[in-house]
Amino acid sequence: MNAEAQDPYAVQRKAMLSDIVALTRETRFETGRAALSERVMAALGRVPRHRFVSPGEERNAYDNRPLPIGHGQTISQPFIVALMTDLLDLKADAKVLEIGTGSGYQAAVLGELAREVYSIEIIVPLAKEASARLAALGYRNVTVRSGDGYAGWPEQAPFDAIMVTAGALDVPPALIAQLKPGGRLVIPVGPQWIGQELLVIEKDAGGKTATRKVLAVRFVPLVRDRQ
Ligand code: SAH
Repeated sequence: MNAEAQDPYAVQRKAMLSDIVALTRETRFETGRAALSERVMAALGRVPRHRFVSPGEERNAYDNRPLPIGHGQTISQPFIVALMTDLLDLKADAKVLEIGTGSGYQAAVLGELAREVYSIEIIVPLAKEASARLAALGYRNVTVRSGDGYAGWPEQAPFDAIMVTAGALDVPPALIAQLKPGGRLVIPVGPQWIGQELLVIEKDAGGKTATRKVLAVRFVPLVRDRQ
Protein backbone atom coordinates (compact mmCIF):
# COMPACT_ATOMS: atom_id res chain seq x y z
CA MET A 1 0.00 0.00 0.00
CA ASN A 2 1.36 3.46 -0.75
CA ALA A 3 1.36 6.19 1.90
CA GLU A 4 -1.62 7.96 0.34
CA ALA A 5 -3.81 4.86 0.48
CA GLN A 6 -2.93 4.42 4.16
CA ASP A 7 -3.65 8.05 4.94
CA PRO A 8 -6.14 9.55 2.46
CA TYR A 9 -5.85 12.96 4.15
CA ALA A 10 -2.03 13.24 4.01
CA VAL A 11 -2.06 15.76 1.16
CA GLN A 12 -4.75 17.92 2.81
CA ARG A 13 -2.89 17.82 6.12
CA LYS A 14 0.26 19.08 4.40
CA ALA A 15 -1.73 21.90 2.77
CA MET A 16 -3.08 22.80 6.23
CA LEU A 17 0.49 23.14 7.50
CA SER A 18 1.33 25.48 4.59
CA ASP A 19 -1.73 27.61 5.44
CA ILE A 20 -0.55 27.80 9.06
CA VAL A 21 2.93 28.90 7.93
CA ALA A 22 1.39 31.64 5.74
CA LEU A 23 -0.96 32.92 8.47
CA THR A 24 1.84 32.90 11.03
CA ARG A 25 3.84 35.16 8.73
CA GLU A 26 0.85 37.44 8.09
CA THR A 27 0.20 37.96 11.81
CA ARG A 28 3.85 38.24 12.87
CA PHE A 29 3.65 41.91 13.88
CA GLU A 30 0.76 41.21 16.25
CA THR A 31 1.96 37.89 17.65
CA GLY A 32 5.69 38.58 17.62
CA ARG A 33 6.26 35.17 15.96
CA ALA A 34 7.29 34.91 12.32
CA ALA A 35 7.36 31.12 12.52
CA LEU A 36 6.18 28.41 14.87
CA SER A 37 8.47 25.75 16.31
CA GLU A 38 9.15 22.67 14.22
CA ARG A 39 8.05 20.45 17.11
CA VAL A 40 4.60 22.06 17.09
CA MET A 41 4.28 21.87 13.30
CA ALA A 42 5.32 18.20 13.34
CA ALA A 43 2.69 17.46 16.00
CA LEU A 44 -0.03 19.08 13.85
CA GLY A 45 1.24 16.97 10.96
CA ARG A 46 0.65 13.79 12.97
CA VAL A 47 -2.84 14.33 14.44
CA PRO A 48 -5.65 13.06 12.17
CA ARG A 49 -7.95 16.11 12.41
CA HIS A 50 -10.58 14.40 10.22
CA ARG A 51 -11.22 12.00 13.11
CA PHE A 52 -12.25 14.88 15.40
CA VAL A 53 -14.95 16.61 13.32
CA SER A 54 -18.66 15.77 13.03
CA PRO A 55 -19.61 12.99 10.60
CA GLY A 56 -19.91 14.49 7.10
CA GLU A 57 -17.37 17.24 7.86
CA GLU A 58 -14.29 15.05 7.25
CA ARG A 59 -13.51 16.54 3.85
CA ASN A 60 -13.46 20.04 5.39
CA ALA A 61 -11.36 18.98 8.36
CA TYR A 62 -8.11 20.48 7.06
CA ASP A 63 -9.56 23.83 5.97
CA ASN A 64 -8.18 26.66 8.00
CA ARG A 65 -11.43 27.51 9.79
CA PRO A 66 -13.44 26.43 12.83
CA LEU A 67 -15.86 23.51 12.31
CA PRO A 68 -18.99 22.35 14.16
CA ILE A 69 -18.57 19.48 16.63
CA GLY A 70 -22.17 19.35 17.89
CA HIS A 71 -23.86 20.90 20.96
CA GLY A 72 -23.35 24.37 19.44
CA GLN A 73 -19.57 24.11 19.90
CA THR A 74 -16.72 24.34 17.42
CA ILE A 75 -13.26 22.90 16.93
CA SER A 76 -10.86 25.85 16.65
CA GLN A 77 -9.18 26.98 13.44
CA PRO A 78 -5.90 25.02 12.89
CA PHE A 79 -3.82 28.22 12.87
CA ILE A 80 -5.13 29.19 16.32
CA VAL A 81 -4.48 25.66 17.65
CA ALA A 82 -0.91 25.88 16.33
CA LEU A 83 -0.31 29.39 17.69
CA MET A 84 -1.72 28.66 21.16
CA THR A 85 0.28 25.43 21.38
CA ASP A 86 3.45 27.23 20.35
CA LEU A 87 2.86 29.95 22.95
CA LEU A 88 2.90 27.32 25.73
CA ASP A 89 6.51 26.45 24.81
CA LEU A 90 6.08 22.86 26.05
CA LYS A 91 8.92 20.64 27.21
CA ALA A 92 8.63 16.89 26.58
CA ASP A 93 8.17 16.21 30.32
CA ALA A 94 5.47 18.85 30.82
CA LYS A 95 2.21 18.31 32.69
CA VAL A 96 -0.52 20.29 30.94
CA LEU A 97 -4.11 21.30 31.70
CA GLU A 98 -6.63 22.22 29.01
CA ILE A 99 -10.02 23.81 29.72
CA GLY A 100 -12.59 23.11 26.97
CA THR A 101 -11.88 19.64 25.55
CA GLY A 102 -14.51 19.94 22.80
CA SER A 103 -13.62 17.34 20.18
CA GLY A 104 -10.31 16.47 21.86
CA TYR A 105 -8.25 17.72 18.90
CA GLN A 106 -6.26 20.31 20.84
CA ALA A 107 -5.75 17.77 23.64
CA ALA A 108 -4.31 15.31 21.10
CA VAL A 109 -1.89 17.97 19.81
CA LEU A 110 -0.82 18.65 23.41
CA GLY A 111 -0.55 14.90 23.97
CA GLU A 112 1.94 14.68 21.10
CA LEU A 113 4.19 17.22 22.82
CA ALA A 114 3.86 16.77 26.58
CA ARG A 115 4.19 13.94 29.07
CA GLU A 116 0.70 14.23 30.57
CA VAL A 117 -2.40 16.13 29.52
CA TYR A 118 -5.52 16.71 31.62
CA SER A 119 -8.54 18.23 29.92
CA ILE A 120 -11.92 19.35 31.29
CA GLU A 121 -15.15 19.72 29.28
CA ILE A 122 -18.40 21.08 30.71
CA ILE A 123 -20.75 19.35 28.21
CA VAL A 124 -20.92 15.74 29.43
CA PRO A 125 -21.56 13.99 26.06
CA LEU A 126 -18.68 15.93 24.44
CA ALA A 127 -16.35 14.88 27.28
CA LYS A 128 -17.38 11.25 26.81
CA GLU A 129 -16.99 11.33 23.03
CA ALA A 130 -13.60 13.04 23.21
CA SER A 131 -12.37 10.60 25.83
CA ALA A 132 -13.41 7.58 23.71
CA ARG A 133 -11.95 9.11 20.55
CA LEU A 134 -8.59 9.86 22.19
CA ALA A 135 -8.43 6.33 23.62
CA ALA A 136 -9.24 4.82 20.20
CA LEU A 137 -6.43 6.87 18.64
CA GLY A 138 -3.99 5.67 21.30
CA TYR A 139 -3.51 8.90 23.30
CA ARG A 140 -2.86 7.16 26.62
CA ASN A 141 -1.29 10.26 28.18
CA VAL A 142 -4.48 12.34 27.81
CA THR A 143 -7.15 12.22 30.54
CA VAL A 144 -10.54 13.90 30.05
CA ARG A 145 -13.18 14.63 32.67
CA SER A 146 -16.43 16.54 32.60
CA GLY A 147 -16.94 19.58 34.82
CA ASP A 148 -16.51 23.33 35.09
CA GLY A 149 -12.90 24.11 34.25
CA TYR A 150 -13.10 27.55 35.90
CA ALA A 151 -11.92 25.82 39.07
CA GLY A 152 -9.10 23.99 37.29
CA TRP A 153 -8.15 20.45 38.35
CA PRO A 154 -6.77 20.83 41.92
CA GLU A 155 -6.10 17.08 42.38
CA GLN A 156 -3.62 17.14 39.49
CA ALA A 157 -2.11 20.59 40.10
CA PRO A 158 0.38 22.16 39.70
CA PHE A 159 0.82 22.32 35.91
CA ASP A 160 3.70 23.47 33.73
CA ALA A 161 1.24 24.89 31.24
CA ILE A 162 -2.48 25.64 31.06
CA MET A 163 -4.54 26.40 27.95
CA VAL A 164 -8.12 27.68 27.93
CA THR A 165 -9.93 27.15 24.61
CA ALA A 166 -13.15 29.06 25.42
CA GLY A 167 -13.50 32.83 25.81
CA ALA A 168 -13.39 33.86 29.48
CA LEU A 169 -14.63 37.15 30.96
CA ASP A 170 -11.72 37.19 33.37
CA VAL A 171 -8.67 35.08 34.17
CA PRO A 172 -9.85 32.32 36.53
CA PRO A 173 -7.85 32.79 39.78
CA ALA A 174 -7.72 28.99 40.30
CA LEU A 175 -5.79 28.59 37.06
CA ILE A 176 -3.14 31.09 38.16
CA ALA A 177 -2.92 29.27 41.49
CA GLN A 178 -2.49 25.90 39.74
CA LEU A 179 0.34 27.11 37.52
CA LYS A 180 3.91 26.15 38.50
CA PRO A 181 6.50 28.92 38.90
CA GLY A 182 8.00 29.30 35.42
CA GLY A 183 4.73 28.09 33.91
CA ARG A 184 2.53 29.64 31.23
CA LEU A 185 -1.21 30.14 30.81
CA VAL A 186 -2.70 30.89 27.38
CA ILE A 187 -6.28 32.20 27.50
CA PRO A 188 -8.68 34.25 25.35
CA VAL A 189 -10.27 36.97 27.53
CA GLY A 190 -13.15 39.26 26.63
CA PRO A 191 -16.91 39.21 25.93
CA GLN A 192 -18.15 37.10 23.01
CA TRP A 193 -19.91 39.98 21.20
CA ILE A 194 -16.67 41.93 20.83
CA GLY A 195 -14.34 38.96 20.66
CA GLN A 196 -11.42 38.24 22.91
CA GLU A 197 -7.78 39.09 23.26
CA LEU A 198 -5.50 36.08 23.40
CA LEU A 199 -3.31 36.49 26.50
CA VAL A 200 -0.12 34.76 27.59
CA ILE A 201 0.40 34.90 31.34
CA GLU A 202 3.78 33.87 32.69
CA LYS A 203 4.44 33.08 36.34
CA ASP A 204 8.01 33.75 37.45
CA ALA A 205 10.06 31.80 39.99
CA GLY A 206 8.80 34.07 42.77
CA GLY A 207 5.15 33.53 41.79
CA LYS A 208 4.64 36.96 40.18
CA THR A 209 2.70 37.04 36.90
CA ALA A 210 3.27 39.05 33.73
CA THR A 211 0.62 39.32 31.00
CA ARG A 212 1.15 39.85 27.27
CA LYS A 213 -1.56 40.41 24.65
CA VAL A 214 -0.99 38.33 21.51
CA LEU A 215 -3.89 38.55 19.07
CA ALA A 216 -7.58 39.41 18.68
CA VAL A 217 -9.53 36.12 18.55
CA ARG A 218 -13.10 34.81 18.68
CA PHE A 219 -13.99 31.78 20.79
CA VAL A 220 -17.23 30.26 22.06
CA PRO A 221 -17.77 31.50 25.63
CA LEU A 222 -16.46 29.84 28.77
CA VAL A 223 -19.70 29.08 30.58
CA ARG A 224 -20.11 28.58 34.30
CA ASP A 225 -21.64 25.59 36.01
CA ARG A 226 -24.69 26.98 37.83
CA GLN A 227 -25.27 24.04 40.17
N1 SAH B 1 -10.34 22.62 22.28
C1 SAH B 1 -11.51 22.15 21.57
C2 SAH B 1 -12.41 23.25 21.08
C3 SAH B 1 -12.92 24.11 22.15
S1 SAH B 1 -14.53 24.77 21.94
C4 SAH B 1 -11.11 21.24 20.43
O1 SAH B 1 -9.93 21.07 20.16
O2 SAH B 1 -12.02 20.68 19.80
C5 SAH B 1 -14.73 25.26 23.62
C6 SAH B 1 -15.19 24.15 24.51
O3 SAH B 1 -15.17 24.66 25.85
C7 SAH B 1 -16.62 23.72 24.25
O4 SAH B 1 -16.67 22.35 24.02
C8 SAH B 1 -17.36 24.11 25.53
O5 SAH B 1 -18.40 23.21 25.87
C9 SAH B 1 -16.25 24.08 26.55
N2 SAH B 1 -16.49 24.86 27.77
C10 SAH B 1 -17.15 26.03 27.89
N3 SAH B 1 -17.13 26.44 29.17
C11 SAH B 1 -16.42 25.51 29.88
C12 SAH B 1 -16.07 25.37 31.26
N4 SAH B 1 -16.42 26.27 32.18
N5 SAH B 1 -15.34 24.29 31.63
C13 SAH B 1 -14.98 23.35 30.72
N6 SAH B 1 -15.30 23.42 29.40
C14 SAH B 1 -16.02 24.50 28.98
